[in-house]
Amino acid sequence: MKKHDERDTMFARMTYEEGKKNYEDYYSTNPDKKVIDDELRKSPGICSPETPTYDPIDANFAISNFKFLSDIRPLVKGEISEKRVSISQKEAAKRLKEIAVDCGADLVGIARTKPYHYYSHRGRPLEHYGEEVSDLLPYAIVFGVKMRKKNIEQAPLLPEVIESSMTYVKAAIIGMQLSYFIRELGYAARNQMDGNYLVVLPTLAKDAGLGEIGRNGLLITSKYGPAVRLGAVTTEMPLKADERMDVDLASFCDVCGMCSTKCPTQAIPRGKRKVIGEELRWQITQEKCYSFWRKIGTDCGLCIKNCPFGNGIDLMDLKKYTPEELMAKFKDNGKRH
Ligand code: SF4
Ligand code: SF4
Repeated sequence: MKKHDERDTMFARMTYEEGKKNYEDYYSTNPDKKVIDDELRKSPGICSPETPTYDPIDANFAISNFKFLSDIRPLVKGEISEKRVSISQKEAAKRLKEIAVDCGADLVGIARTKPYHYYSHRGRPLEHYGEEVSDLLPYAIVFGVKMRKKNIEQAPLLPEVIESSMTYVKAAIIGMQLSYFIRELGYAARNQMDGNYLVVLPTLAKDAGLGEIGRNGLLITSKYGPAVRLGAVTTEMPLKADERMDVDLASFCDVCGMCSTKCPTQAIPRGKRKVIGEELRWQITQEKCYSFWRKIGTDCGLCIKNCPFGNGIDLMDLKKYTPEELMAKFKDNGKRH
């Protein structure tokens, strides 16, 4: 699989400022993105008073969560103890998973990292823009924090961004606790947290056995569907890796298409998967999705809210039913509730 470049992601692009090296470099090689990105940068920000969903209490709560995340970003790496503790791969995996759960993770798995899990180059922050990602640690503990239904059900209003910012904070703290602990045991470890990632989390989480990637581009988990936020710690500490989940989600997404139907901007494609690069997949139009967020002033989340998984059906049901039978089961559940 081809590596992704963080410089192309919407969140990195929105940090590029005219007159700075990131702006000049990116738009000289990607002139087709300049008009839409300039327009988006001029539009009101998420949680800003000019947007229709604004509420001064809720908006400032989400803003405070993002400020906290920004403050702790430099702590993702740190000093490694000189006294290395010896531990078997199996025992280390077991203990780290238990600790992740004790720290608040709702899902946890371990992957042996592959080059495609890492971005090719960094897009943010400015001081790291354009750097080749070279810190390729060979193992990852990957975890998920569930998003609460009471907030997701209010998508696309401010409770959605409250929920996403809160779960980003929880995932970042779990990652800090794990990475500080692993370094204390004498092994390199880096927290992969919001705004400071070297890895592509959904792909890494899929390979750690946490779920499968759906039409909406999100990791779909067994118990919570797409209503999770992910975090990871990459490390040199040898760990016993988990197996991928062996389910055919793509055939179900072919039949379902709910996220695509409900998406207000047609950012999620309809129809079958296409070959993109070397992969057969659906590709979200990130500009269409993010434009809507800026317009309404919050994360949208309708593709999370409307996915059947986490709403009465489970990924493991894919082993028992055909996609058509499972869709009928989901619709039937809806009628009864
Ligand atoms: S978050 Fe909203 S706009 Fe974006 S892809 Fe999902 S449904 Fe579409
Ligand atoms: S809403 Fe349906 S098509 Fe979209 S990711 Fe979920 S299962 Fe797949």
